[in-house]
Amino acid sequence: QKAEWAKLVDAPTLTADGNHVELAANIGTPKDAEGAIANGAEAIGLYRTEFLYMDSAEFPTEDEQYEAYKAVLEAMGDKPVVVRTMDIGGDKELPYLSLPEEMNPFLGYRAIRICLDRPDMFKTQLRALLRASVHGKLRIMFPMIATLQEFRAAKAILEEVKANLVAENIPVSDEIQVGIMIEIPAAAVLADQFAKEVDFFSIGTNDLIQYTMAADRMNQQVSYLYQPYNPSILRLIKNVIDASHKEGKWTGMCGEMAGDQTAVPLLLGLGLDEFSMSASSILKTRSLMSRLSMPDVQALAHKALTECTTAEEVVQLVNDLVNK
Ligand code: PEP
Ligand code: MG
Repeated sequence: QKAEWAKLVDAPTLTADGNHVELAANIGTPKDAEGAIANGAEAIGLYRTEFLYMDSAEFPTEDEQYEAYKAVLEAMGDKPVVVRTMDIGGDKELPYLSLPEEMNPFLGYRAIRICLDRPDMFKTQLRALLRASVHGKLRIMFPMIATLQEFRAAKAILEEVKANLVAENIPVSDEIQVGIMIEIPAAAVLADQFAKEVDFFSIGTNDLIQYTMAADRMNQQVSYLYQPYNPSILRLIKNVIDASHKEGKWTGMCGEMAGDQTAVPLLLGLGLDEFSMSASSILKTRSLMSRLSMPDVQALAHKALTECTTAEEVVQLVNDLVNK
């Protein structure tokens, strides 16, 4: 099996009937880009920049950030790199940033909410990113977006930072896509409206599932409710993908679900354009996809959405197809 996968490192990701989707890697540090390439990633679908902050004793400077972003972009060459702006808060703390004690940190001061409240910090990151943009194919992604106002505010800050760089004669790429993570149900529901303003979506199922099911992703006692295949989750995902396609945009997924071998046939059938996962899952996923054909997975997804009432029924349908 390993030998079969190794042959797929440089192969494009194609279904049995020749449909192409993009298989990307999630990374946490610039060094991880090597593993992404070695495992055949066609892109970086999620660079979690908060590790840059967490591995540091104080706020990383603009230059330190620039070097990190440049390293990833250069390592990937002409392959796209989706960099997520920092997602601190929730379960991720910084020693040098005192955050208020909260009853529900996952529902609290986190990610873009901090960035919009502390634009100084956010602007430093955006400046570093824009400066690095000339070294590759950069895509910028904002996490934890709940409302259009938040997206517009973040985008306005990005535009302001860009204008300042241009005024300083510092080169900036003019082909940077700007997208959002869909990990809050409110954004998934309003995907049609977001799709008119963003360049892409990436579905963060780790959070989207916990917020949709109201089940803490870290709490063992309610883990039975953490259900990627629940029809409600599948319908939200479908809504997001369809909304993006209507506006000529693309949708990826960077939550764990994207590399889950049971979910992959469903997601393909729902029309997901990009799957981003840990590098170690890429080749087996490429292999699985090569054995699936679009009419089959589309029929599977349709059936799951219209006939299944429970996650178990969905899993049964997938198993019936894959073991056929
Ligand atoms: C997600 O929520 O699915 C995601 C990819 O982000 P994180 O796991 O970093 O919260
Ligand atoms: Mg998340």
